[in-house]
Amino acid sequence: MVYSDRVRTRTKIVATLGPASSEPEQLRALVEAGVDVFRINASHADADAIRRQVARVRRAAADCGEPVALLLDLQGPKIRTGKAEPPLVLAAGDTLTVVMDDRPAEGLRIGTTYPEMAQDVAPGDRVLFADGALSGEVAAVRRALSPPEVDIRMIDGGELGSHKGINLPGVAMSVPSMTDKDRADLATGLEVGIDYVALSFVRTADDVHALHRELDRHDAHVPVIAKIEKPEALVALDGILDAAEGVMVARGDLGVEMPLHSVPVHQKDIVERAARRGRLVITATQMLDSMERNPRPTRAETTDVANAIFDGTDAVMLSGETSIGRHPLEAVRTMDAICRAAEESRFFHATPLDRLPELQGHAGAVTRAACHAVTEAPRPLVVFTWSGATARYVSRLRPKGPIFAMSPNQEVVDRLALVWGVIPFRTPLVKTIEDMTLAAEKLLKEAGLVLQGDELLVLGGNSPQQEAAAFLKVHVVA
Ligand code: PEP
Repeated sequence: MVYSDRVRTRTKIVATLGPASSEPEQLRALVEAGVDVFRINASHADADAIRRQVARVRRAAADCGEPVALLLDLQGPKIRTGKAEPPLVLAAGDTLTVVMDDRPAEGLRIGTTYPEMAQDVAPGDRVLFADGALSGEVAAVRRALSPPEVDIRMIDGGELGSHKGINLPGVAMSVPSMTDKDRADLATGLEVGIDYVALSFVRTADDVHALHRELDRHDAHVPVIAKIEKPEALVALDGILDAAEGVMVARGDLGVEMPLHSVPVHQKDIVERAARRGRLVITATQMLDSMERNPRPTRAETTDVANAIFDGTDAVMLSGETSIGRHPLEAVRTMDAICRAAEESRFFHATPLDRLPELQGHAGAVTRAACHAVTEAPRPLVVFTWSGATARYVSRLRPKGPIFAMSPNQEVVDRLALVWGVIPFRTPLVKTIEDMTLAAEKLLKEAGLVLQGDELLVLGGNSPQQEAAAFLKVHVVA
């Protein structure tokens, strides 16, 4: 068996696109180094940038012959400061006035992109700026003024520049979950064929339903990843997990909205509950943060990535490391190496989970039997999957050994790039299961992943077009 050092990591690697990862040769190198999914951060992209990034990634993936998924991350109702050039310098005890329009800063007054802020806050509420680097407390609200103003007594001072994030932890915000920009970005993303869409600042399942309605309006069936980064989302997590196809532990904003020391506990809780419900989970933000500047990560970062893998995350994500960092390629190579070391260790529990809610009846029984069989006697599992559903279910059961998913649909193949342990292949469209088996064997031999005499366990439906798993057989490579 030759597959172990040839296949990609079981844990999927998501890399955020940006100026440090925009040129075709950079993208090809990142794919070859192990990136499975590229994230377009719509906070920093307009329609042209979305179109350009999608086209470049598709070309790089085709050049490398690797399936790669594209995740469009919608900005959501992110609140920011207005223009501040030069930045304001604030000391503890200063009173900063936030004015409810986007005027340039002057003295100790600054504008905001969120004019409803004066309606939502009350004296005593906490306000954080620039990912929590600066903080203060609402001292007074003047709603009758035009435009209204909010005074904030600074607790932690510092420099406050243009377009810095503002967080209002615990404040029930009146802003809708999807902005006009989100709708426009989504339309652009769907037009150019994104594989997943992430929604920022999800508060309840209703926010996910609103995005599904928007997708329905476009007649699009794109899986939704709900970003968990607000305290309300933690309270409503079960409903969000029911509504969304996956979640992201968005530790950046979560660590601003919640006490930082509570983030590790929430991370473990979200990963476990997502896995129990059979939902995808991506662990994100600052995983190799120091590699934005340095060619090597810290010990703590390396351990953080490995621990997320041991906890059962489907994917680990790089943000600034690949979008604006000085060492994007080294960051991906490092991530890939940590994944491999963790996955080879005895702490990696790739054992089937019990109590998964979906896939009952014969299809469920055959699929579970396949996973048990390859866990007891490790062999590659070949899954014929028309829509991707059987491959996703197999992945949730965490069988030992590679999962080679075969589908004639390119969209399905690309999407499966984010699914834990799955190595997707596009097969020709054939009529019989026998032809499908021969096509799979040919692809795996050409890729150097199997040799004559190797035993494969094959799982599939009654015909290449049928999704529900109906049979399980051992196939010996000719
Ligand atoms: C986060 O806050 O952790 C996150 C992933 O979101 P963004 O990078 O869009 O701020």
